[in-house]
Amino acid sequence: MRTISGLLAIFFLVTLFGQGSGLAQAEPGALLETEHFIFKALPDAPSDLVPDPEQIQKIGLFYESVIQDLEEGFGGQVRDKITVVYGGTAAMGTGDRTVVQPYSSEEPSFTFGCHEMLHIALKDILGPGPDLFTRNLSQAVPYNLGLEELTVTALELHFLKSSPEMHLYARVYQELTDWPSIQTILNPSSSLIGLEIEYPLVSFLAFLLDHYPWADYRLLWNYNTNFQLSQSENVDLALSQAYNESLSALEEKWKGFLKAIPVSPEWWETIKRQHEIETLSGHLANLFSEQVETIKLDRRSMKEFSQAYEELYTPDTGLSTAPYGILKEPLKNFQSLDPRLERYKAMVKVAQEAISACDKGQKQLRAKDWNNAWTSFKTLRNDLVQLGDTSMLAWVDKQLTELETKVPPEQRQAQASAAFPWWGWALIVCGVAGVLGLGGWLFLRKRRAHQKGKGQQP
Ligand SMILES: [Zn+2]
Repeated sequence: MRTISGLLAIFFLVTLFGQGSGLAQAEPGALLETEHFIFKALPDAPSDLVPDPEQIQKIGLFYESVIQDLEEGFGGQVRDKITVVYGGTAAMGTGDRTVVQPYSSEEPSFTFGCHEMLHIALKDILGPGPDLFTRNLSQAVPYNLGLEELTVTALELHFLKSSPEMHLYARVYQELTDWPSIQTILNPSSSLIGLEIEYPLVSFLAFLLDHYPWADYRLLWNYNTNFQLSQSENVDLALSQAYNESLSALEEKWKGFLKAIPVSPEWWETIKRQHEIETLSGHLANLFSEQVETIKLDRRSMKEFSQAYEELYTPDTGLSTAPYGILKEPLKNFQSLDPRLERYKAMVKVAQEAISACDKGQKQLRAKDWNNAWTSFKTLRNDLVQLGDTSMLAWVDKQLTELETKVPPEQRQAQASAAFPWWGWALIVCGVAGVLGLGGWLFLRKRRAHQKGKGQQP
């Protein structure tokens, strides 16, 4: 389950399709029925989110070939039909054998998306997965990775023929984070976040799937987790039992494999930018979730901020949706992306300052530290205006008005000038001198040229 979007939708789907999943004959209203699948569309789904008759035939053949590969590779069987529903925008399983798989006629990468059905097929073939490779992506995302989730991701990319690009992303991410070990990646107190955790783990498991028999992977999957041991101790033990090799030995081979992947300058620049966007967003999301004071800022009301983020993903930047953020080709056009990335970075900085000022201001109010509270609320107000957030302005202004009765004007003045550093004045003076100097020099050059011209005249 990749995105859980609303209990209502799930309830609706379970009610609608729950009884239908075991039917043997072709169901009325199905787009297609194959040996292992019933493909359906949500009632009233927009047509561009539903495959047309020609595409659904291709998808049916592809899905059946995936099942055949899984059953042969792992040894096992899918036990009953899986219902795949199109027309939704978020991928999800509904708890029974029905899944919603996003599809877009404009995004070729979504055509054969099969993440959600892989969850069900793998559980049929391999049984429930062990508690291995479990790690939270970040504090802000209450979403656990684990062997099942990582394997589904690795296999989907394998069947989409995107494994080479996924390893490439893992390689660059490892380089950008100083090649952390699997042990560090699994350690919840490491500073790694989001895809810095997900890409290397998916890549490591895909490496095992690509270089060793799938029967060995089956042994890994059937490992009995020992809850007395740590995550990395369990991983070590499970790998030794399945592959007769330790975690560190397998990890060394995997890292050697990654290091041998050539990275063109175009790919390096592309992935570096994606990494920057991802980690900035992840750390900011953590800050939002860590806010401790009673009045909290909400990213959804920061219009300028949201716009800056959305502009990174408009079609012209080339960063539009790809499965797991993995592009097939490096970006060609940095001219449209880079100024937007700069704007986004600036917005993240303002948002960070706003969160901190909001928390500090409230603490200072409670401590009756009126002077500093006034400065914090002034900063917060300024930041909210820059972020396009009007939802809190009335509250902030109320605090400021009350504080102004407690902080005498001359003190506020002193604070305002204290907030402006001495080197700010120095820069302005230097700047003025520089402009004057340059202007004077230009003026002299002009005059000399003029005189020279004059002198050459007969
Ligand atoms: Zn999933």
